[in-house]
Amino acid sequence: MRKKIVAGNWKMNKNREETTRLISELKTAIQKSDAEVIIAPTFVNLAESLGELKGSFIQVSAQNMHFAESGAYTGEISADMLKSIGVSTVILGHSERRAYFGEDDALLAKKVDAALKAGMRIIFCFGEELDQRKSGDHFKVVESQLKNALFHLKGDAWKNIVLAFEPVWAIGTGETASPEQAQEMHAFIRKTLTEAYDSGIAEGVSILYGGSVKPGNAEEIFSKADVDGGLIGGASLVAADFAAIVAAAG
Ligand code: PEP
Repeated sequence: MRKKIVAGNWKMNKNREETTRLISELKTAIQKSDAEVIIAPTFVNLAESLGELKGSFIQVSAQNMHFAESGAYTGEISADMLKSIGVSTVILGHSERRAYFGEDDALLAKKVDAALKAGMRIIFCFGEELDQRKSGDHFKVVESQLKNALFHLKGDAWKNIVLAFEPVWAIGTGETASPEQAQEMHAFIRKTLTEAYDSGIAEGVSILYGGSVKPGNAEEIFSKADVDGGLIGGASLVAADFAAIVAAAG
């Protein structure tokens, strides 16, 4: 059975003190869940977050990493560094990385390979932009994002991949894909995976929806057959909201 997952992408928010406070609030607000619950604070707060979550079922993810194992890449963080502090999940391909830091499919394929080689699990983000949806190209765009960054992988790598469909027009905009639009795309992703691999892989991979998920819309989105939880931005920064979204996932 596929896992339900709710992951909070904190982006470049919360300093050290604020991180500690939010984690403490989350520990109180989310005592248990059938879903896997993950938070992704900034790099500088990862180690401390892990310490504060010791004994809690809430897990910690990084928001990004470099593809190289080490070397002259000023300002970057490797998979090995993340692993060495106890972080074994990483978000890759977020639309903000693609838009503001020029990350393309070819670069992401290298990051994917590096993360898997280091034994990490990946939450891989992708999704179309508004003009691509308006022109009806969204399926084609999503298919090529998946194909270019992930379809070189062998089948057994997929046990360490979580997909996060995040239509760019719905991220941080307050505009959400309707539950039907999310379901339609998630079903398409599973069909694409079945064609590229097999139905075992397609049915086994968790596909999260991301894009302005809030306490008020989470339950309906998560109720769709092919939606296995969410990647949450803004609402993950407020303990009560994130807790309500986790509760909506079951
Ligand atoms: C995100 O950044 O992954 C995201 C889904 O953001 P938001 O929930 O704020 O739209």
